[in-house]
Amino acid sequence: MTLRLQEFVDLLSYNTFGLPAKARWFAELFSEEDVWRAHGMAKNLGLPVYFLGGGSNVLLASDINALVLKISIPGMQIVPSDESPEILWLEAQAGELWQDAVAYSLEQGFAGLENLSLIPGTVGAAPVQNIGAYGVELSEVLHSLTVFDWKEGRTYELACAECNFAYRDSLFKADPGRWLILKVRLRLYSDLQKLHLDYGAIRSELLARGIDHPTPKDVGDVVCTIRQARLPDPKVLGNAGSFFKNPVITAEQAEQLRAKYPKVVCYPQTDGRVKLAAAWLIDQAGWKGFREGDAGVHRQQALVLVNYGQATGAEILRLARRIQEDVVQKFGVALEMEPVVF
Ligand code: FAD
Ligand code: NAP
Repeated sequence: MTLRLQEFVDLLSYNTFGLPAKARWFAELFSEEDVWRAHGMAKNLGLPVYFLGGGSNVLLASDINALVLKISIPGMQIVPSDESPEILWLEAQAGELWQDAVAYSLEQGFAGLENLSLIPGTVGAAPVQNIGAYGVELSEVLHSLTVFDWKEGRTYELACAECNFAYRDSLFKADPGRWLILKVRLRLYSDLQKLHLDYGAIRSELLARGIDHPTPKDVGDVVCTIRQARLPDPKVLGNAGSFFKNPVITAEQAEQLRAKYPKVVCYPQTDGRVKLAAAWLIDQAGWKGFREGDAGVHRQQALVLVNYGQATGAEILRLARRIQEDVVQKFGVALEMEPVVF
């Protein structure tokens, strides 16, 4: 099958912010053969590329004068691992929806992915920012992945330790357009003692449901319920989840901040540094609920920037920069954007 190369494609329905932007060139890839074809085509035409999954962590700031490749390679299966009999691997291709992979593993009764339930987007994008939620990060469950190096035109297997994972960061996020993730291998556990129940309202919500000995699926269901109650649904209100990362500062800086603002929300890290709740800083700076035109800050979630309908990427970006400047001025803390700006 030949690759369908399209011109001037409107990406509005391809990003959860619902932002208008046109891709000069666009193609959807359904197989590894398509990846090779697209690679040859882009090389011949001399086109830079952008990889796109579900568009839930991108900010389309303007039209894109490049080849946008929507990664839709399907397939997943659970296979035995060579690690131990209690560990299996879920091998999932990049184009599967992350939540489908989570649901599939939980339906089979395996633990591992339950705290990462209901994160939008695709499997292939999950390693890019080392997705995390409810006290678990992808790097804790990822065994290895297969990646296509766009620069060299070669496929590699990378072990988890080779991906430079950090808080919402990785090798892949640092070098966009180079590493196309094709497949991931995730650890699933038949040992149900490994459940993480201590974050936020997970335990209390389980108890409220009368569940003393939860299954992984019980935990996944609870996480879905908590998320649905707290986070805006992009189908209703355009957004890309948390817009800023939680800043991590030195213990000394945190102490100075606490002296000035005793209520500042701090989470001590294992390396001695301190993570601040970016939402608290934005809220205290007075931005929660702010709206200018159709670009705004969510009324309940200060970390979430929203598109009320007709906002452009440039307007969202302008708002984000105003918030960053204000927070630096008020608290001396730099906020880093989480979505990737195209
Ligand atoms: P896209 O937005 O399409 O792409 C994101 C980046 O990954 C881009 O740089 C893109 O080039 C790159 N990319 C995409 N596919 C590939 C591939 N196959 N190979 C290489 N690079 C690729 N994130 C969290 O970490 N935790 C959360 O709890 C969370 N909750 C969210 C809730 C909401 C309501 C929303 C809208 C977003 C949330 N996010 C969260 C952010 C987002 O869902 C994740 O970052 C997700 O992994 C992005 O997947 P995607 O397929 O939509 O990626
Ligand atoms: P929340 O539970 O109200 O917590 C607010 C912030 O405080 C979070 O950012 C979280 O950091 C931090 N926090 C809370 N309890 C913590 C603990 N016990 N230890 C360390 N840090 C703690 O946040 P929420 O907005 O409802 O989101 C719930 C979870 O989903 C969080 O893990 C959040 O990261 C994730 N989420 C992420 C996105 C995204 O786009 N990235 C969007 C929605 C939700 P962490 O973010 O480091 O966990």
